[in-house]
Amino acid sequence: MVSKLSTNDHSSDVVGLKYIYPVLSRRAGGLSIGINFNTNNACNWRCLYCQVNNLTLGAAPELDFALLERELRYFLNDVLFGNFYDRFDVDADKRIIKDIAIAGDGEPTTLKQFAEAVELIGKIATEMGVFPSSDYVLITNGSLIHQPKVQQGLQALNRYGGQVWFKLDSATEEGRRLFNNASLSCEASVENLLVSSRLCNTKLQTCLFDLDKQGLSEKEKDAYLALLGKIKSRCSVRKVMLYTVARQSKQPEASRITPMPADVLQGLAEAVRALDYDVSVSI
Ligand code: SF4
Repeated sequence: MVSKLSTNDHSSDVVGLKYIYPVLSRRAGGLSIGINFNTNNACNWRCLYCQVNNLTLGAAPELDFALLERELRYFLNDVLFGNFYDRFDVDADKRIIKDIAIAGDGEPTTLKQFAEAVELIGKIATEMGVFPSSDYVLITNGSLIHQPKVQQGLQALNRYGGQVWFKLDSATEEGRRLFNNASLSCEASVENLLVSSRLCNTKLQTCLFDLDKQGLSEKEKDAYLALLGKIKSRCSVRKVMLYTVARQSKQPEASRITPMPADVLQGLAEAVRALDYDVSVSI
């Protein structure tokens, strides 16, 4: 046994691979196979709760496609036919590949060859019998979905039955600047969300965290609900995932951040359900 994988262990080097990292996922209830394109820890946002070490502003580096292919084939072989689960002492009820998730140490859609990479992963996982029974997920801040190469990637994701988890932490311009350091306006983000939902099955993911013990302001809550109400007739997005911070932020603001209280999350979830969305809450 090397070590027990935990739901908190997102380290890309836990299995000694460059692009692949396994996570026993709280949300998924099994093994989530993460694919990290951002091996340089670069993102185009800087969310205050971000857990990426040495996060830098920028884009994913050139991808070594041959290495990604070797690593993915090797790792899937180890999980499907090798002793991966025994080595990492994975509980019997978690010995299932729930998903392959493109979600790394930065924004994955900043990768120049994003569409080709989505296609390659889909092809290998299909060949090896992982898809379609396991999910194919892209976790994104959605900021680059106006770009043709990202849209091609979403089309490829859709061909493999995948889904986009689109980050929307705030529906106010101030909130987006404060929480995410995002320059993209709320309106542009909504446009990207609409495009995403046209190209691929899309869910919203919203991280709520308590900054300076201020809780969730009425202004933020109202704007969020108003936005969800407004987009309902314009797109097919019907699922919303609300969650809070589970691990310490690696950003300078870490000491100002605590998990959002459960009753606040549940209260917002109720209000979103009243708008006819399917809401999950992860505390
Ligand atoms: S979008 Fe994701 S990777 Fe980028 S700063 Fe925010 S939490 Fe970190």
